[in-house]
Amino acid sequence: RTAPMDLHAPCNELSSVGKVIAVVSGKGGVGKSTVTCSLAAAMARLGKKTAVLDADITGPSVPTAFGIHEHAVGSELGIYPAVSKGGVALMSLNLLTENETDPVIWRGPVIAGTVKQFWTDVIWGDVDYMFVDMPPGTGDVPLTVFQSLPVDGVIVVTSPQDLVSMIVTKAVKMAEMMNIPILGLVENYSYFKCPDCGGEHALFGESKADRVAAELGLKVLARLPIDPALAAACDEGRVEEYQPNPMAGVAEALVAGRV
Ligand code: ADP
Repeated sequence: RTAPMDLHAPCNELSSVGKVIAVVSGKGGVGKSTVTCSLAAAMARLGKKTAVLDADITGPSVPTAFGIHEHAVGSELGIYPAVSKGGVALMSLNLLTENETDPVIWRGPVIAGTVKQFWTDVIWGDVDYMFVDMPPGTGDVPLTVFQSLPVDGVIVVTSPQDLVSMIVTKAVKMAEMMNIPILGLVENYSYFKCPDCGGEHALFGESKADRVAAELGLKVLARLPIDPALAAACDEGRVEEYQPNPMAGVAEALVAGRV
């Protein structure tokens, strides 16, 4: 087992953060950011003070989903997060780079240092739930980020193909080795709901989420269909307006303590 080093620093003295929930995936492109942003939007709608820390430094997509394109503002006390229309506090490298399209060509320790600063130097204020959009995979960068933040629980996002390739098992085992409780799995791209016939089509075959979750001793928290309208809402900065929010049930379950 890896012995997790305790590298956590306290958050900014003007912040008080309740639960920190990391959203992870075995690889990129499975919908981790979509799930994180939808969940945060749903949580804010429940009246909870909500924040998103975008730790996916090389592929930051959180500000876009919330329609935020301005720069973050700093003071001698720290950096202020951007705040979305729905009241979600956000910090992402995209709020700090000169151009949104500038690539970040940094090595792992620098990335992890930046994420740590998002925790220590951002004036988050009072937050009930902070969702962390983690860097994908089980390599050096997600590992160091895990060690830099006091994560209370992990939600694992998978595609149907990941469930076959065992890449999810690796992500789950990584969280277990770091002694972080896993709240459950979210299967994205689970099925396609035909707009013409209304039928639900399992494009990738019957869902394996239940079987794999049972093998790993985990709950399936949600199954999201392939939904071009959801993708468009995120691309156009309307994740908060998109209804029905596919993560609403998970937000309710978190607040009710059922997850
Ligand atoms: P990740 O954070 O895992 O890299 P993203 O959330 O950025 O993945 O999603 C990758 C792409 O797939 C994005 O263009 C996103 O809009 C799209 N996408 C994610 N989930 C869905 C879905 N359920 N239906 C349709 N498109 C989706």
